[in-house]
Formats: sequence, structure tokens, C-alpha cells
Amino acid sequence: MDLKTKDVQEVYSVERVRKDFPILSKRVHDKPLVYLDNAATTQKPNVVIGALEQFYTSENSNVHRGVHALSEIATQKYEQAREFVRQYINAASLHEIIFTRGTTEGINLVAASFGRTFLHEGDEIVITTLEHHSNIVPWQLLCEEKSACLKVVPIDDKGDVLLDEYEKLLTEKTRLVAITHVSNALGTVNPVKEMIEIAHRMGIPVLIDGAQYMPHFRVDVQALDADFYVFSAHKIFGPTGIGILYGKERYLELMPPYQSGGDMIRSVTFEKTIFNDLPFKFEAGTPNIAGVIGMHAALKYISSLPWENIIDYEAELLRYATEQLQSMDGVRILGTARKKSGVLSFVMDGVHPHDIGTILDEEGIAIRTGHHCAQPVMERFGVPATARASFAFYNTTEELDALIRGLRKVKEIFHV
Ligand code: PMP
Repeated sequence: MDLKTKDVQEVYSVERVRKDFPILSKRVHDKPLVYLDNAATTQKPNVVIGALEQFYTSENSNVHRGVHALSEIATQKYEQAREFVRQYINAASLHEIIFTRGTTEGINLVAASFGRTFLHEGDEIVITTLEHHSNIVPWQLLCEEKSACLKVVPIDDKGDVLLDEYEKLLTEKTRLVAITHVSNALGTVNPVKEMIEIAHRMGIPVLIDGAQYMPHFRVDVQALDADFYVFSAHKIFGPTGIGILYGKERYLELMPPYQSGGDMIRSVTFEKTIFNDLPFKFEAGTPNIAGVIGMHAALKYISSLPWENIIDYEAELLRYATEQLQSMDGVRILGTARKKSGVLSFVMDGVHPHDIGTILDEEGIAIRTGHHCAQPVMERFGVPATARASFAFYNTTEELDALIRGLRKVKEIFHV
């Protein structure tokens, strides 16, 4: 461990935080687990596990429907969670916080509902090369359906979006810009505030995919002036199957329901259905109540952490790992953007990334290998796949040392 990391650790105790996550003391293949697959999903602290258990043990009931005590508790907790999310991301109104299954569903909701209303033949949607498939395919399908055009902002060799090209791609036909805040494949942190400002000058709304930003930074949707912001609870130490779509009320009001059924209506006759108010208009059916309560516990947990120190601590982890990898012969890091977070993607001469992943697994080290649901990024760099180590605030420099030792072993085995 180097000095700078030590300084940060004096104010932020990673050892203390690790104790909150029971899985981190698990052994895998009889070695201490080194979990470096946080961009895929993060581990859960005791308070989240406990909140789920408490709900199912003593509060389980459906929401918004019953007059009995349990239903009132469940409804209260569900709506308290919405208020917590509102405050956490600084949204102006509770009407703007919609519970979804996750980032993917949030984007699909906007594509289906906003797209159905505002997109017409010949219109354009702008995304970047850095997008996860879930911020590509919904727009592709929508454009096909509407005979509209999907335009893609290129990136440079470092993995930074070319802002000049971005500006040039925006026209009077652009109906929406959809960009990731942080790339899951390269770790690039996009200058989304600037990109939103540029789009807004032309009156174009912007959706931000915050899936990989939320685990590493605090967001303020009003300061950003994002029109839509989506993220998943499972990447911020909460449960799977639950997430948030934030949308400005003036857009959400104009958008038709995405799915229909119970809870999203005010009245139904066979002649006519009147929809419920926001946000319920977009929450058809019994929601993931336990998931919402678990997400609330996760957000409360991360709210209690010293974020300024964590941001510095994670930057140190990334710097340390980058330096170590750069000094290894035959290893190439993909993605060296001006501002990066959380992710180290790399390839090794003469070794397929899957083999790297398998050998590291034998050492108890979990990384991700493949295209990371971002095939256009792989294509841009001319590789089919990478190995990706991704970090969270509970990782340590000792774990990064284990990663490097594991990679030396890979080199030995493959004689490279
Ligand atoms: N966008 C990005 C940048 C992601 O990293 C991910 C998850 N890997 C998603 C979207 C999709 O998130 P989810 O699978 O939770 O819907």
C-alpha cells in the first residue's frame, strides 16, 4: 500500500466498512474472496439483508390497497422509500420518482412512452459509442418502428466522447439524447453536464444512464438538469429487480402509460379508463415492494458514508491498479479517458480474457470477462472481449495485489 492510500484510509476505514458486508469474508475455492466484479452487481450490507428479512418476517402485505394494518405499514414504507430517493437525488417532486425493475426497464419505459408520443418519421435520437446494450437496443427498435434515425457519437482512442462531433450530430430533428454517465466497459466518466447544456441550447431533452455513476458518486438531478435519469438498486448495494426512473414532471405528464393494469388507473369501465396520477401512472401491477424497502436501506446506508473520502479512496484504488497493470509486459489497458471511475478493462497478449477469468477464479478472484454488453465499444477497440476488474469502496489495495499476483500466474501458465 502506498502513502497516499494510507492518508485516505485514516479518515475512511475500509476495514470497518467491510465488516458490514458478510459475503466479503467468504472463501471461494478455499481462498479469501476478492470480489472485483462490482460493475456487474455489488454486494449487500447487513442492513439491506436485514430490511428484506424484516419485511418478509413481519410486514409483508400488498401496497395501496388494503385497509388492514400490515398493508398500511407496507404502503407507508414503500412511499417513505420514494421520498428518500427523491431527497437522495434531489428531485423536485415525488411525482418524478418512478419505481422500475432497473436501468433497463427505465430506458425501455422512456423509449416506449416518450418515443411513442414525441418521435415521428425522419426524427433522430443521439447516443454514444460507449453505451451499454440497454441504452442502444430500445432506441434501435423504436427508430425502426418509427422510421427514425439513430445517430452515434464517436469516441477517441482513449475512450473519451468527441464533443465536437456530438455537437455536430444534434439537429432540429433530434428528439432525444441518451448517454451513459459512466461507461461500464471502459470506466469513462462522460461530461454529461456539458452535454446536457449543449442539447438544451437546442431544446433537446436528455436521458442519462446512471447505472455505473451511482455506485461511485452522489448525483443531483436538478443541478445536472437531466430530463431523465435511470439507475439500478443492485449496483448501489441494494437488491436486484428494482431501480429508479427519474423524469421531469412536465415530460412524464405528457407521456402515456408504459404498462397497464392495476394501480395505474383511477377508474375503469369497459368504455373508458382514467389513468392514475404520477408516479402511479407508470407503476402497473403489484410492485417489488421488498425490493423498494431494500433499496431504501441501501441508500440510507450509503448516505451515512463519508463520500468525499470514498471518492478519493476509490480514485486511489484505480490509480494503484492502473499503475500495476501498466507495468506488466504484454498487458494493455483499454480506456484511458481523462476522467475514469471504477473500471479497469484490459487484454493480455496471447491469452483469451476467459482464460484470465478462469485462472483468477481458482485464486478466489472474481472479475468479468467478455464484451460487457457493450459490443460497439469492443468493436471500436478491435477486440472481441476484455477482462474487467471493477471496484467498490469496500475493495482494498491488498486485493489489488492479489489480482496482480493472479495475473502473473496467468502469464506463467501461458508462457507469455
Ligand atoms: N447501463 C449500464 C452502463 C450498465 O452498466 C448496466 C448494467 N451492466 C445497465 C445499463 C443495465 O442495468 P440493469 O441490468 O440493472 O438493468
